Amino acid sequence: MSEHHHTTVAGVAVDTRHWIGGERVASTETFTDISPIDGSTLGKISRGTAMEAAAAVAAAKAAFPGWAATPRAERARILHAIADGVEKRLEELAVVETHDNGALLRSHRRGVMPRVAHNFRFFADRLLTLDHEDFTTRGHTNRVTWDPAGPCVLITPWNAPLMLATWKVAPALAAGNTVILKPAEWSPLTASLLADIAAGAGLPAGVLNVVQGLGPEIGDALTAHPDVRRISFTGSVPTARHIAASAAANLTPLSLELGGKSPLLVFADADLDLAVDLAVEQYDNAGQVCLAATRILVEESIAAEFTRRFTDKAARLRQGDPRDEATDIGPNIHPRQLEKIDGFVRRALADGARAVVGGHRGEGQYYAPTLLTDVRQDSEIVQEEVFGPVLTLQTFTDEDEAVRLANDTRFGLAATVATGDPARAERITARLVAGTVWVNCFFVRDLRAPFGGSRHSGVGREGDTWSFDFYCDLKNTVTAP
Ligand code: NAD
Repeated sequence: MSEHHHTTVAGVAVDTRHWIGGERVASTETFTDISPIDGSTLGKISRGTAMEAAAAVAAAKAAFPGWAATPRAERARILHAIADGVEKRLEELAVVETHDNGALLRSHRRGVMPRVAHNFRFFADRLLTLDHEDFTTRGHTNRVTWDPAGPCVLITPWNAPLMLATWKVAPALAAGNTVILKPAEWSPLTASLLADIAAGAGLPAGVLNVVQGLGPEIGDALTAHPDVRRISFTGSVPTARHIAASAAANLTPLSLELGGKSPLLVFADADLDLAVDLAVEQYDNAGQVCLAATRILVEESIAAEFTRRFTDKAARLRQGDPRDEATDIGPNIHPRQLEKIDGFVRRALADGARAVVGGHRGEGQYYAPTLLTDVRQDSEIVQEEVFGPVLTLQTFTDEDEAVRLANDTRFGLAATVATGDPARAERITARLVAGTVWVNCFFVRDLRAPFGGSRHSGVGREGDTWSFDFYCDLKNTVTAP
């Protein structure tokens, strides 16, 4: 077996080629996938070009009529079989993902991979109840149906690779579409395992295709393709702009899940221990979470006590090997990302910020959990997404100022409010610009809820019927009496 076709990661065999039309296809060129844990090479991955992109779209187009015509119950059965396959290989998926993107093995085992299976089960079940009531207009019957749209290009990031990919793949397939999935080049492996699992579950050839490659090299050939009917993208704002421009040629509908700079508002009446827990939780996944509340806004009167307790708790976090059950914070994804994080912090410090916690690199691929104070609202560190374990702390004196600071970025993905006063929670929530607001909690997600961002955090919502609305062409048929 060629090392350009396969690799073995912690005992798990992974095919490093594309999956197109039910077959493994190799590119002549490869790119190297490295592990953030120790910088070791995980594999040589097929480096797709416009040629493989065109082949994958052609395969998805050819498979579309058959899959679209497959009865809902059969589509749902196959999606459940994929979920079964994910559960059967859960440990392997968790281990491979941890080696590939450096996130904690314990969270892959207990949270992320079960959620991957749930993504398939949820949309399979939802498909079976997806119907509008017929209604009449002057005796004429209106029947609204969700028609499958066609081949969908799904482009995903590295911070939660399989979870974010299947959050798109599952509803797209449930809706009767065919898929071309392009995972991030820094974490390409579990998408390849998903292709194996889907084939094993009986998903027909060409319904799910996986192409590997560097975004700028293979991207346009996917997003500007006239046979692609939907593009769903999760990633950064600059890439989203590029994709939107590329999709404009064919007016291809887009769903965009982008970055954030979400606030955590802590009022003096909050349970302070809870508020500190919520703040420290923002270091999860080494800060590489789109929803992370990276701007901590604390009521002036409790700021000193909050900072003291936060500092104590942050000092107890264990940073280290993500395979170790005791580790709280793993490495950051890539030397380039580490460089980017460090650049943000160094510029902030030069701009007058003070590092109360951290403020520097750790060993190897690690960045020390960091809390910066004395930051200006209009500064880069407050306005731009760092995507690393870097938080800022600012204070406010009343609700108006808290809301003003909270809403004063170009993002609008999420917000968290810590307060002991339910009436205040309601007042504040109503004024926040955010796709999700958590009150006295964080990261509680239910697939029945809409998910997405306002402003530069995204376009559209995913989840429940919002996903089906996006992945389908809605049709109203009016029949005379
Ligand atoms: P990125 O934009 O660099 O890359 C995302 C994907 O786009 C990758 O697969 C990449 O290969 C591809 N890509 C790059 N250039 C392309 C091009 N020209 N055409 C087509 N595809 C291209 O983002 P990233 O660094 O991988 O991910 C981090 C970003 O994702 C952060 O901004 C984070 O907030 C965001 N994110 C958002 C959500 C959400 O749900 N809102 C979830 C996770 C991450």
